Amino acid sequence: MARGGRASSDPAAERPADRDTPRVPTDWVTRAADDAIRHAGGTDRLITCASGASPSGPVHLGNLREFLTVHFVAEEIRRRGVPVRHLHSWDDYDRFRKVPAGVDPSWAEHIGRPLSAVPDPWGCHDSWATHFKAPLQAALAEMGVEMEEVSQTERYRAGAYRDEILTAVRHRDRIEAVLARFRTKKAAPTPESEQEAAALEDSVADADDDLAADTGSDSAGWARFPYKPYCRECGRDTTEVTAYDDESTDLSYTCAVCGFAGVTNLATQSEGKLVWKVDWPMRWSVEGVDFEPGGVDHASPGSSYTVGKELVKDVYGARAPSFVGYSFVGVAGMAKMSSSRGGVPTAADALKVLEAPILRWLYVRRQPKQAFTVDFGPEVVRLYDEWDSLGRKAADPARRDAQVLAFERASATAAAGTLPTPTVVVPFRVLSSVADVTAGSAEQIGRIVEHVGHRHDSVADLEPRLSKAMTWTAEFVPAEDRTTVRSTPDVERLTALDEDEELWLAQLLDRLPDDLDLDAVTSLVYGVPKLTRGLGLDDAPTEQVKADQKKFFGLLYRLLVAADRGPRLPTLIVALGADTVRTLLTPPR
Ligand SMILES: [Zn+2]
Repeated sequence: MARGGRASSDPAAERPADRDTPRVPTDWVTRAADDAIRHAGGTDRLITCASGASPSGPVHLGNLREFLTVHFVAEEIRRRGVPVRHLHSWDDYDRFRKVPAGVDPSWAEHIGRPLSAVPDPWGCHDSWATHFKAPLQAALAEMGVEMEEVSQTERYRAGAYRDEILTAVRHRDRIEAVLARFRTKKAAPTPESEQEAAALEDSVADADDDLAADTGSDSAGWARFPYKPYCRECGRDTTEVTAYDDESTDLSYTCAVCGFAGVTNLATQSEGKLVWKVDWPMRWSVEGVDFEPGGVDHASPGSSYTVGKELVKDVYGARAPSFVGYSFVGVAGMAKMSSSRGGVPTAADALKVLEAPILRWLYVRRQPKQAFTVDFGPEVVRLYDEWDSLGRKAADPARRDAQVLAFERASATAAAGTLPTPTVVVPFRVLSSVADVTAGSAEQIGRIVEHVGHRHDSVADLEPRLSKAMTWTAEFVPAEDRTTVRSTPDVERLTALDEDEELWLAQLLDRLPDDLDLDAVTSLVYGVPKLTRGLGLDDAPTEQVKADQKKFFGLLYRLLVAADRGPRLPTLIVALGADTVRTLLTPPR
């Protein structure tokens, strides 16, 4: 394959020369990068990997796949020493389609205007489009994703596409022939989830082009014109083309909403845009796009990619980029969030609980065509454990495999280097249970974490994980799963202790040091039932002792946190401190 004989210091970029060379791991990113380079015909020119998104609402975790799929492929090409750019188009010149719930219904007057021309209902940004771009830009920066961003409003208004618009209009019969061929193949899918419904809405948006065509009744077929002006009077795209002069390139239109009748000249004025199905392939041609992903629905027959593939060839004599279709990203464990603030979670929401490399890892470790779920519930704890264990594996060069490759891709970027991870890695389950038990400050949690055996110089050594564990505990763990430490002793239970229970508590309190450390407390908590059966603290437990331990632990949970279970007892006791434990476990006299 064409790789231009460039030198690369990265083993992932090289293929084994023969069977004696150890096998270098590869993944979907390796293959997509190969395809992009093949599409470019080698490595002598800048390779363009493109993403696109319409800032019409919050960019949810499903849309994030668009950005990250391109990011990882561009990074892989960069690692090989090949010039590459991640070009991101903000489709902010798309029309505002509908007023979402929660927005003043008076915003309906903006329907049909470009997203960049609709005011921000929350008043914090200069437009609707910017309001939804800004938080994603911040989240992407935190994730080390660098892109060359393009505003379609700016490009169109600046006349950047004027030649291509004239070319499309000149070839409108050819375009119509292609669209007509696919129009008959369209089948209506049934949405199975909210996210699929959103995607379906996008594809319905694609179909708007055709819809306009079907309602067009004039014999000249102007309704199927590939270019749509925004009304000069009211700014909406509720315009109907009434005439077009190929000689002068004057386009006449009337506005269905305000009644304005005007003329715009396609060679000298920039007041509208190509319909989506022509717009996309036009940009592949202008930007020289070598790789661009899309939702799997974009790749079905009659979808924008399949149609665009034909159009880019027929109209612009160019080739469609290599394409990867990606599946949906589901979301779970949001019960608490959804009820409190509603809506689908964004990258910023996920970054409140996941370290940036972990969020990246969720997207790189699966093939794009595989759907996956971002789970904000108890699964977060397991996810962190899995990540930490993969990190230990990655530290051993002999164990480098596809999983480690995904870890490397998630952990660092060419520009940002290694993304922030804690200097001292404390298991997320420890940080979150300490945060849960103490509901305290970062400093307090830091002190307890030190007592449970994780030495560190300052709280900063535990970041960014500590803050994320605190946020997760406070905002994502449902109340019934939170630990509530008793504020006063359970007098009723303490006066009803049986002989064994009384003995256990007395032994525990008798031996409990004022300064608690995890090992001593662990040995004591497990050992007390041994002492009362005549064994030593370090002796192996008998069956009888095991049964006693179970009973004893249940009693401790009851007396300390008024529950049947909770965080690991030694951690809980160290977190509470000797004074609180004594207060809650001492029977009244
Ligand atoms: Zn108008």
